[in-house]
Amino acid sequence: MKILKLIKVNFFAFLVLLAYLVLMIFNRNLGIDSLKNSQYYLKEMIAIMPPIFILTALLDLWVPKETILKYLGTGSKVKGVFLSFLLGGISAGPIYAAFPVCVMLHKKGASIRNIVIILSSWAVIKVPMLLNEVKFLGVHFMVIRWILTVIAIIVFSWITSLIVKDKDIPEADIELPLLAINSKACIGCRLCTKNYPQVFKMENGKATIIKDYKTLDEDLISQTVKACPANAISYNPETND
Ligand code: SF4
Repeated sequence: MKILKLIKVNFFAFLVLLAYLVLMIFNRNLGIDSLKNSQYYLKEMIAIMPPIFILTALLDLWVPKETILKYLGTGSKVKGVFLSFLLGGISAGPIYAAFPVCVMLHKKGASIRNIVIILSSWAVIKVPMLLNEVKFLGVHFMVIRWILTVIAIIVFSWITSLIVKDKDIPEADIELPLLAINSKACIGCRLCTKNYPQVFKMENGKATIIKDYKTLDEDLISQTVKACPANAISYNPETND
């Protein structure tokens, strides 16, 4: 029973081991080549992943959740898309190094759409790769491929965000509030309290959320979020508060 449980927990690793075993039985040389390849990638991962985990932990510690929500959250719109491209584009290292970073960003409020953009641009349009592409295939090829790839990433990230929701990501033990205000960003213009006085009030020159507001009107809250000149309000409709 213990073995079955172990297989269930590590199902994917078990499938890989099984594939190696089958390969060894039917084509020994190919099996040995596969093992050598895996050994190479394993060594590479052992060298790369520890600094990535340290960097991720430091980012988790230093970058406040409000900042991630503001710049990469669902309300970040075009700014979030641009920053996600930038983040993925200037990165270095293999794509698997991006996964722990993205998990941390998602946990802190980055939207699914922006996570897809970061991962995709990390994989196919990062700057060091573009320079190599120019060297081997020429500027014309690189520019056309880059433009088409960016368009494809925007479309695919949008489609993914329609299909995959925050709750579908197992590691993302989302603690995002349904509604939050980044008080550092709030400029105290009172627009939200005028637009939706049942939910927002002013306190010491900053907007806050009324604790026991009854319900949220989807249209009204979306309009209020959009109208905020400081982009200080985040609304996460996927959260079940
Ligand atoms: S609209 Fe935005 S900036 Fe203005 S008070 Fe409300 S939260 Fe602050």
